[in-house]
Amino acid sequence: METVLLSDCESDLSAAAKLIANGQIVGLPTETVYGLGADASNENAVREIFKAKGRPADNPLIVHLADFSQAKDYTTSIPEIAYTIAERFCPGPITIVLPKNDKIPLVTSGGLDTVGIRVPSHPVMHRIIELSGRPIAAPSANTSGYPSPTSAEHVLRDMNGKIAAVVDGGQSRFGVESTVISIESSDTVRILRPGCVTREMLLEICREVIIDDAILHELKEGQKAASPGMKYKHYSPKADIKMVEASTDDFRSYIAEHAADGGYALVFDGEETDMPCRCLTYGKNSLEQAHQLFARLRELDEIGAEVVYVHAPSVDGVGLAVYNRLIRAAGFEVIRV
Ligand code: AMP
Ligand code: MG
Repeated sequence: METVLLSDCESDLSAAAKLIANGQIVGLPTETVYGLGADASNENAVREIFKAKGRPADNPLIVHLADFSQAKDYTTSIPEIAYTIAERFCPGPITIVLPKNDKIPLVTSGGLDTVGIRVPSHPVMHRIIELSGRPIAAPSANTSGYPSPTSAEHVLRDMNGKIAAVVDGGQSRFGVESTVISIESSDTVRILRPGCVTREMLLEICREVIIDDAILHELKEGQKAASPGMKYKHYSPKADIKMVEASTDDFRSYIAEHAADGGYALVFDGEETDMPCRCLTYGKNSLEQAHQLFARLRELDEIGAEVVYVHAPSVDGVGLAVYNRLIRAAGFEVIRV
């Protein structure tokens, strides 16, 4: 199959929407990362997504809608707090897990009786959902296990020849996947996957915001994942990622001792001066780190890095999302200096 590269002009968006309405898969830009979009209600199309990614069948897909008011068409009930959260953060980088109805096939929900609903803010994605008139299932457009794509070029690297088209909508603004939450009670939510809608932001609305265990810890044998995606190794480039929690000075000393004879470091902006090995930087604050992380991990593979020491970010605000992706890329091993 030839994968066509489409632009963000109206006629290309309408071509992409037609492909989706006809059961094809298209790479789509969103404000979080690029997604692999297909009609969420078309079982065959959804199966093709799992095939193209090599994604385990029990890892559910998020369903993207043009407006949160459409969520009632695909769910059996929506608690009041979900509406309050949607009013505040939709469209935007948040996914709310709700009980699904029959319009969402089990293939899409990975066999669960719930569905993750998201309303993306990226104008290109929004327009394609509108034009297709379909709910769009869209996991990140990477090969399963590899870092998520934040540009059309990244999507092509992983998916060329496997999908009908990719729409180029520029670089993803946030760079990490959406915050996934479940509703625990009338005033409590649980973060299943951290993203750019942070715990601190949700606390402005909810009395309690629980951070699911799987965000910072490896699941134990037999422990059930509230978010099935958290079971799998994720975000891993070919390079061996070593995550180091330390002050700048301690990080530098650690590198001098361990990486001077080879290896790369991924550090905060400004730390690259006098770091005793080859360095890439990934921003100076959590928002920048989220925006740049996946692109840097892909770049490190392209330059053939075998071992990469990453200076771990703080876990405050958006930092929790960056930390969560890195700890999975590092196989849950953190070196504390
Ligand atoms: P991706 O689409 O690749 O960004 O991954 C979607 C993530 O959302 C996975 O980690 C899933 O486990 C999570 N997710 C999607 N739908 C549900 C659901 N119904 N219940 C719990 N987690 C979900
Ligand atoms: Mg993914």
